[in-house]
Amino acid sequence: MESKFDVASVRKQFPILEQKVYGQPLVYLDNAATTQKPRSVVKRIEDAYFGQNANVHRAVHLLSQQATEAHEAARVEVQHFINAAESDEIIFTRGTTESINLVAFSFGEAFCREGDEILISSMEHHSNIVPWQMLCERKKMHLKVIPIDDNGCLLFDEYAKLLSPKVKLLAITHVSNVLGVENPLRQMIELAHSQGIPVLVDGAQAVAHMSVDVQALDADFYAFSSHKIFGPTGVGVLYAKRNLLEQMPPYQGGGEMIDQVHFEKTTYNKIPFKFEAGTPDFIGTAALAEALRFVEEIGLDKIAEHEKQLLDYALEKLNQVKGFQLIGKIPERHAIVPFLLKGIHSYDVGLLLDKLGIAVRTGSHCAQPLLERLGMDTCVRASFAFYNTTEDIDRLQAALNRIGNMFN
Ligand code: PMP
Repeated sequence: MESKFDVASVRKQFPILEQKVYGQPLVYLDNAATTQKPRSVVKRIEDAYFGQNANVHRAVHLLSQQATEAHEAARVEVQHFINAAESDEIIFTRGTTESINLVAFSFGEAFCREGDEILISSMEHHSNIVPWQMLCERKKMHLKVIPIDDNGCLLFDEYAKLLSPKVKLLAITHVSNVLGVENPLRQMIELAHSQGIPVLVDGAQAVAHMSVDVQALDADFYAFSSHKIFGPTGVGVLYAKRNLLEQMPPYQGGGEMIDQVHFEKTTYNKIPFKFEAGTPDFIGTAALAEALRFVEEIGLDKIAEHEKQLLDYALEKLNQVKGFQLIGKIPERHAIVPFLLKGIHSYDVGLLLDKLGIAVRTGSHCAQPLLERLGMDTCVRASFAFYNTTEDIDRLQAALNRIGNMFN
């Protein structure tokens, strides 16, 4: 069973997938942690360093102009990719983590006071917990947490009850990095906005798997990382509505973010540059744009369909493995299968899978409070991208059967 999607030709664009690990062809199922890079992205990096390398926004010479054009074109590419209203609403950061820290600091400075509350959910990645805890500590505020049910689904009624004039921001993940569950963002944002509360969405696990439209969602902030969508590491995106950005103070000081600097007083640049102190990773942004073009050429609809088929196939096959315990019965899952093998520690499962050429993730997946809530401290996570195949799943199934037999 393979979809019409031509996975074989797509895989040819990812040389890393051709390698062997411990003598076995690599099966890469750790895509939620980071994705592999197509040839066009790596070529873009090489072309930029060998043909276009000069600092952006500063010099009049040709190389600098070309680098600046590529960097600003990348901003427009990102704008279109998530359907932002204008490219000035796209800020380049180092990743989702930095994007969230930027908002926690700058939004916190502009809008938060002692006694205020920030609302998050029980299924957040540490990056969408700790920056808010730091803000709460700094400003003597309170962090409130939306509970989930035993399957890991958010309790909407409990969410509604937690909204109040004290809540200054809702920060919520689009898709859980452990469970793959998608939150009902449209309804959540509508309800928050009806009470004047802005919403930050952590899109790290969503952008590579579904088409995201920040205007349709009406998200106030949307954060994601390049490396999780086939782009280079070290680059991230923060989308934010213009009116909020204009009211927020800069996050870091330095070059690029200024208008005039005098020892008596400094004035700041306009957005987005006000939030981009120092030399940006302009080669990384150009390569991210290349990755987004790669994804768009395949089409997110086709990607989502292929990944849905893979997920269904995986659940069917893995449920046949003795002792396989899927975590969370979730109606709509995205590209992630979290599980335990009865009686075998997750680390042993991960280590043995590795020896059989299969890369999965084990541990608490930077979401300790979620695992605690679900009554476990570790689990195994297999996560897919569009280059995965049903053969990958067959290999995983066979390997889990073998590990089960070894232990029993
Ligand atoms: N949020 C979620 C949901 C994630 O999955 C991750 C990465 N595992 C992050 C935030 C942090 O992303 P990064 O490390 O690229 O900043």
